[in-house]
Amino acid sequence: MIPSTYRRVVLARRPPGEPTDNDFRIEEQPMPEPRANEVLVRVIYLSLDPYMRGRMRDQASYAKPVGIGDVMEGGTVGEVVASNNPNFKTGDIVEGRLGWQEYGVSTSHNLRLIDPSLAPISTANGVLGMPGLTAWFGLYEIGQPKPGETVVVSAASGAVGQVVGQLAKLSGCRVVAIAGGAKKCAFIKDDLGFDAAVDYKASGSLAAALAAACPGGIDGYFDNVGGPVTDAVVPLLNFWARVPLCGSISAYNAEKPELGPRLLWPMVGRRVHMQGFIVSDFAPRFEPARRAMGELVRAGRLTFKEDIVVGLENAPRAFIGLLRGENFGKLQIKLGPEPGRS
Ligand code: NDP
Repeated sequence: MIPSTYRRVVLARRPPGEPTDNDFRIEEQPMPEPRANEVLVRVIYLSLDPYMRGRMRDQASYAKPVGIGDVMEGGTVGEVVASNNPNFKTGDIVEGRLGWQEYGVSTSHNLRLIDPSLAPISTANGVLGMPGLTAWFGLYEIGQPKPGETVVVSAASGAVGQVVGQLAKLSGCRVVAIAGGAKKCAFIKDDLGFDAAVDYKASGSLAAALAAACPGGIDGYFDNVGGPVTDAVVPLLNFWARVPLCGSISAYNAEKPELGPRLLWPMVGRRVHMQGFIVSDFAPRFEPARRAMGELVRAGRLTFKEDIVVGLENAPRAFIGLLRGENFGKLQIKLGPEPGRS
């Protein structure tokens, strides 16, 4: 039965630095009625992603900011509970961008039907969703891995990084992961099978630890974090290295741009190719990539770790933790049961 109200999380104010609980507000709303061609979706999994920090700022970007009082933006997987659209029926599982809320109304343009028999439905927010596609296109299109090369990936236990490293291994590369803490580094080596893991939070010189892990230099660096971690990688880049610039999470809470070492000059002589990208640049090619990754997942050649937190009320705290490295794997909020399960 559809309840008469639902909860949502709105942006209460714009944090100048690290977000706090007070920057978010939980509201109860009357249940919306789907109009012609619309469907009502009960959200089961809400994806929490670093880009959301950018949406909390009122500044020019590749995407519009969330307005004060508006629902926080976010990718979702849910169940259709009422439909006035011929393309969807009650019980269908769909992926969409319904945001931080328990129910949402949408049209067929903004929803993608998911076949729950192919993979766990939460993967549509993870390895078979936006983060997985980011890894796929960033690595293959810009990173261009070749067998025998050394590829370094930062935030390597996270949603994007764990897929990047596994795809680079499948391409015959030697993969060196950078992550925070012994537990994440052990997972990366033991469970994901990467060749080496460097803990950037460990005491001692990160530059020396990286140099020891990459005796032949670095041919590809998938940059998820920027800041001091990237400063340690750049001097080790080989001639003709490729650097997909995917994200800079170390700076997302910064009030002012950080000043770091000026490292661009050595890249001139070494002909390093560094390129930023946004996953949506590749949207027309999502479906074949998703199919290829789905086959790898089903064959057990691409594995994934998710970090599932239960309850919409816990979304702000979990998101604040993501920006501190507290998540371990693809972070999602579970808002309700999967159909037929608890
Ligand atoms: P993750 O699941 O990897 O979670 C974020 C991780 O970042 C944390 O767990 C933490 O891991 C690490 N981190 C946090 N703060 C710092 C810091 N100060 N220095 C170094 N590492 C830090 O997130 P995603 O995989 O979803 O995203 C990874 C990156 O990719 C982000 O920068 C994101 O913005 C970007 N991205 C870009 C896209 C694009 O289209 N260009 C699309 C999707 C994501 P640890 O404990 O190891 O430090």
